[in-house]
Amino acid sequence: MAAWGKLQCHGTMRRRDALKWGARTTTLCGLAAASPIVLTRPAAAREALVLDDRGAVANLTYAVEPDETTRALVRRWILKSAEAVTTYYGRFPVSEVAISVEMNAGRRRAGGKAFPDDPPQLQLSVPPGADEKALLIDDWVLVHEMVHLAFPYLGRRHLWMAEGLAVYVEPVARIMAGHMTAERMWADFVDMMPRGLPAEGDGGYDETGGWARTYWGGAIFCLVCDIRLRQATDNEKGLRDALIAVNREMNFSRRAALGEPLAIGDAATGTTVLTDAWKEMRANPYDPDLDRLWTELGVSLTAHEARFDDTAPLAAIRQAITRA
Ligand SMILES: [Zn+2]
Repeated sequence: MAAWGKLQCHGTMRRRDALKWGARTTTLCGLAAASPIVLTRPAAAREALVLDDRGAVANLTYAVEPDETTRALVRRWILKSAEAVTTYYGRFPVSEVAISVEMNAGRRRAGGKAFPDDPPQLQLSVPPGADEKALLIDDWVLVHEMVHLAFPYLGRRHLWMAEGLAVYVEPVARIMAGHMTAERMWADFVDMMPRGLPAEGDGGYDETGGWARTYWGGAIFCLVCDIRLRQATDNEKGLRDALIAVNREMNFSRRAALGEPLAIGDAATGTTVLTDAWKEMRANPYDPDLDRLWTELGVSLTAHEARFDDTAPLAAIRQAITRA
């Protein structure tokens, strides 16, 4: 057991709120998930959920055992979140995850933390009165935490990559699984990504932290790499191909230097896009013209409603990003 015990992420708010206020976010396809195998163990507050058709398992413990109705809801929350992540990665990203659930946490929204370990651990908190809407429709935190499981633990200096990846992949995975719309994701990106741009005096990604650069700056890095990978491969391969390749070689149960997963992703796509982007942006503040990028992608926003222009020069790339 390599218990580093370091907090990777702590999400407790709406994605937009968390990233707006920087609150302490220092943050099967249906076929396998549709027929969960529930193994009740001798200890009443323990159970195991099978997450994909490969037999990946979540070992669940409750600090205080909830009633059966709530327990069933938590089970569906975990399985639905796992379905999104499994759709994206082609399988659940680790063969085993330990999940501890705290009920009636003193928060308004569900929260989560991911800990690198072997097996990795997730700590979830469920607020009082949590219902289907809160956990099955509105929640983004658990998918975000599960995305962390698919990438190695990087350490503080590259937290921007770990968090940016989770911010970027979470909505893409949910769209691919049919759990949210592409319009909503692009509206969030147009709204929130400007906060990830460097401020006066900021350095590159490896040099300047802070919540906005870490979460939304990291997400900008992922979006730009996704676009560059697709431009370099005639829209055949993207960030998802790179991340799947990384996940087949390593995951959150081990630590890696950032160059390792980036090299794996580059090899999988036959490019040097990821490594080149890191070299370009790690020590220099990357400050793209996002308004121009949205126009090129064919995304415009009116009252937080995204509209698409399919004749825009990068429209095919925009469509491919969220295509399952
Ligand atoms: Zn996170």
